[in-house]
Amino acid sequence: MDLESMYQEVILDHYRSPHGKGELDPFDAEVFHVNPTCGDEVTLRVKLSDDADPLVEGLGHVGQGCSISQASASVLFDQVNGQPLSEAMPIVDEFSMLMYSATSDVDIATLDDEKLGDAIAFEGVAKYPARIKCALLSWMAFREAVETAQASKTN
Ligand code: ZN
Repeated sequence: MDLESMYQEVILDHYRSPHGKGELDPFDAEVFHVNPTCGDEVTLRVKLSDDADPLVEGLGHVGQGCSISQASASVLFDQVNGQPLSEAMPIVDEFSMLMYSATSDVDIATLDDEKLGDAIAFEGVAKYPARIKCALLSWMAFREAVETAQASKTN
């Protein structure tokens, strides 16, 4: 099996049995993001701990859309749930860099495989600009949900 079909298999596995799917409750913040070009939708909730470096205590996503958008939300859950934000946010940055690797001068070899985990399977998606937003949808939603949750805690 070549790398590309292996990656497709990883994405399909996450699509068929997504991790972190469901309405998290209780939660600190909820955001709703859409990708109009593809019709993907995600509603994402997060719960953060009260530590100085807050832990992602919970993450839940519900939505609909293409296999890439749905699988990507599942991989997001695997990579950031239970992690402190000091670890989780750099993972989001790494994934964004991976997605823009084909259209920027990011060198994939410099990215951290351990941070990316199964997210590396989306490497091929970066070659299709129309699909990049599908892959990034839940990750951008997560970033906004964390910001919203942090703002609500300091108020
Ligand atoms: Zn899509």
